[in-house]
Amino acid sequence: MAKATTARSAGLGTLLRKLHKPTYRVPPRESDENALERLLALVLQGEDPYSVARQAVKVLRRSYAHWNEVRVARRFEVRDALALRRVPQSEERALKAQEFLRRVFGLQNHLDLDWLYDATSERREKLLASLTVAPEHAAPVLDLDAALSEGADRLPPVSTDLKRSLARLSLTPSSPKDGQVLDLIAPHLKGEKLYPNYLALQMHARLICESKHPRCRQCPVLEGCPHGKRALGSEGYRVALEEMSAAARKAGAGEDSAARGSGKGGAKGGGKGRARSSSSAQRA
Ligand code: SF4
Repeated sequence: MAKATTARSAGLGTLLRKLHKPTYRVPPRESDENALERLLALVLQGEDPYSVARQAVKVLRRSYAHWNEVRVARRFEVRDALALRRVPQSEERALKAQEFLRRVFGLQNHLDLDWLYDATSERREKLLASLTVAPEHAAPVLDLDAALSEGADRLPPVSTDLKRSLARLSLTPSSPKDGQVLDLIAPHLKGEKLYPNYLALQMHARLICESKHPRCRQCPVLEGCPHGKRALGSEGYRVALEEMSAAARKAGAGEDSAARGSGKGGAKGGGKGRARSSSSAQRA
């Protein structure tokens, strides 16, 4: 690998570590997980690891013959089914599950969402926007699911958002071709890193490094971003870095004191599996 390519890849690795969030640790779809169940898990995830949400979905799947039954069940029955299997926040998750199922049914008069994996990214986004209850990272998760359902090593098409943010960070030329972006990111999207790193890149590109008004002052990778430095000016850049560093120190102190108060450690995310194309639509 040429020196410049190695340096860019190392730069991307550093950037990814700064962009990570625990909620991005989403594993691939399981072989019997259909689109409705995948999206329901993302809705139920909240700030918890995905594994907790997947457990909630599996409990409901085992407790009811059909997702329509969950939709129309009494709230306390759904809550009790979750609580019996020790799913945390069973009341809140019962409410969210039924709200989600009712919205899906309200939009299309049935609960089969497997068409999402054959649709364009724009159509998926449209449905997610109509549902209003899906988290922001649901869109890139579904994009990745859809690409993988077409082939084990497929990646979604490179988005203009991603091209823009990587170019601003000088990790690619100013108007990169898809191949140049893929050469850069593909080594960081292997195995268990696939979903977390892909989500981190996409979420940053979509929500922080916006096209017209990039939020450089809140950007976790401002330090070392030539475009951000130019946009803020040297004084603005210095002040923004100081503010972010003070905010990080404050947040770190808050977390330490909360951990001491509760006596609890961090939660683990993860899970393994392989994405595949078909799903058990009859449950929807
Ligand atoms: S500092 Fe600004 S331009 Fe640079 S990556 Fe962050 S949001 Fe984008």
